[in-house]
Amino acid sequence: MAIRNIRVDGDDVLRKECKVVEQMTDRTRTLIADMYDTMYDAMGVGLAAPQVGILKRIVVIDVCDGNAYTLINPEIVSMDGEQTGEEGCLSLPGLAGQVTRPNHVVCKALDIDMNEIIVEGEGLLARAICHELDHLDGVLYKDKVEGGLHRVDLEEE
Ligand code: ZN
Repeated sequence: MAIRNIRVDGDDVLRKECKVVEQMTDRTRTLIADMYDTMYDAMGVGLAAPQVGILKRIVVIDVCDGNAYTLINPEIVSMDGEQTGEEGCLSLPGLAGQVTRPNHVVCKALDIDMNEIIVEGEGLLARAICHELDHLDGVLYKDKVEGGLHRVDLEEE
């Protein structure tokens, strides 16, 4: 396992459409393990494969609700409600902005063993699912931000 380099805004790889994962391989398992390492190291709540330069439809999410989700070929099958809140992205370090997302989503995906799973998310988990799935189609939250991006200064201690 290893921490991979996170691609930042301006890198073309973040604007590409990712490919469907047809089968699980050792290489893809290693990628997923590395994605978790990279996400936790950067203290993020989600990471999509293109953020580490791999154009595959894979995301990992951990919003600290006691579960970590590996979503392969994910699709949102239903959504409802609305929430507007602050969002950030490991590919746009030091920035944040307001984005409106559904408050509840149902996501169909494959897990790491390529078994179909359904993940239901509300609040932050719904936001994270929408944000990470956007990455798989080359969309960044800054495309949807309301009122522009602002800097988030780290608190000094
Ligand atoms: Zn992101």
